[in-house]
Amino acid sequence: MSETMREPIIIVGGGPVGATLALLLAQKGIATTVLEARKKAAAYTESRALALSFGSRKILEKLGVWTALAPHVTAINTIHVSQKGSLGRSILRAQDFNLAALGYVVSYGALSAALDEVLANTTIVNFVFEASAEAITYHPTHATVTYRQHQFSQSLNSALVVLADGGRGLDEIAGMVKETKDYGHDALISKVSAELPHNHIAYERFTAHGPMALLPNGARDFSLVWTGKKAYVNNLLNLSDEAFLALFHAEFGDRVGRFLTVAKRMTFPLKLSQLKTTDTPHLVVIGNAAQTMHPVAGQGFNVGLRDAESLANCIASSAPERLGDEKMLADYRVSRQTDTKNGLLFTDFLVNIFSNDIVGVSGLRSIGLGVFDMVKPIKAHLVSKMSFGK
Ligand SMILES: Cc1cc2nc3c(=O)[nH]c(=O)nc-3n(C[C@H](O)[C@H](O)[C@H](O)COP(=O)(O)OP(=O)(O)OC[C@H]3O[C@@H](n4cnc5c(N)ncnc54)[C@H](O)[C@@H]3O)c2cc1C
Repeated sequence: MSETMREPIIIVGGGPVGATLALLLAQKGIATTVLEARKKAAAYTESRALALSFGSRKILEKLGVWTALAPHVTAINTIHVSQKGSLGRSILRAQDFNLAALGYVVSYGALSAALDEVLANTTIVNFVFEASAEAITYHPTHATVTYRQHQFSQSLNSALVVLADGGRGLDEIAGMVKETKDYGHDALISKVSAELPHNHIAYERFTAHGPMALLPNGARDFSLVWTGKKAYVNNLLNLSDEAFLALFHAEFGDRVGRFLTVAKRMTFPLKLSQLKTTDTPHLVVIGNAAQTMHPVAGQGFNVGLRDAESLANCIASSAPERLGDEKMLADYRVSRQTDTKNGLLFTDFLVNIFSNDIVGVSGLRSIGLGVFDMVKPIKAHLVSKMSFGK
């Protein structure tokens, strides 16, 4: 059977990870049906910032998505890591590692629009908007997805169903167990403008309340991720713009001058979670649905894109009659084990070493940052993690 003779693979969730998988498979001549709950263009106004690694850029370039996206991305040329209340700080520069950039910042909306533009010209992807999956069941030879579109319930079968729903419906599916560590912290996200230009510098700052990141996004603006205990973040949400900007200035310091404006503030809970058991024949889970990370190191989305790339390769090298069988799914899981585990450990390590407000640890941390600034192999490791995720 030729590749295009396979029945379409079903992807539940056409967010950035699901959409990228559909395009990667299309490049290999493999047809998919993507079920996406939202309306077309509904995500284009979503301003949450995603940090793309250089490796993710390469995946998007291969798919022709980067061309549409390039005018909307902001390169990160320098990462400045500091800790409030300590002199220690570390600076990572792209040029020191012979890289064009350490990463890129893009809004979720711009990425969605660029993916949709390429998808619209890809005939073997059947992208169905306003189709909300309600149940997935397994059978010896296939899985069945039941979904609702315009009040009508319909079902589709496939030897392989890929769940890329961002982690919304997992609890309902038999055989799925997630291991979750709740940080008890929330993240506040927004956009801010400052007196001084960003000069393509991303700031990671560790405070007693939790880490914060200020990412260059656009000609002058920054995207802000400010984390802390739920009550602390709730309070930030309720401050007037003026009081919020003053407090942020006090926590962040004077590196970009005073902060001038803040856009709408939103919060979401922070957790680290990973799929534990996947005894689910003909069903595979990728992206945020498979693992969720603290946004401090900008790893989560990039790990999700590498899930898509790896799965596309496993599907392409599988014989049609083996699609979705135990061996194929086990091969995929093995291919992702190390990268996912490292991403989770690295993120958790950063959160713990710099964020716990334990007496004495603060001093150690500032020494840690100073040492980190001097030792090139440690910096090189961090850069390779952030740029390539390897
Ligand atoms: C509020 C919030 C803020 C975030 N902020 C940041 C940040 O500042 N920086 C950062 O790096 N990362 C951030 N992240 C994480 C980042 O958004 C994810 O890593 C990334 O979006 C993962 O992509 P995905 O395609 O796996 O999932 P998603 O982007 O969640 O996409 C899932 C898609 O599935 C669709 N879907 C859901 N359920 C169904 C269903 N039943 N049927 C059909 N379709 C369905 C949804 O409509 C959506 O389009 C944030 C996440 C959240 C939730």
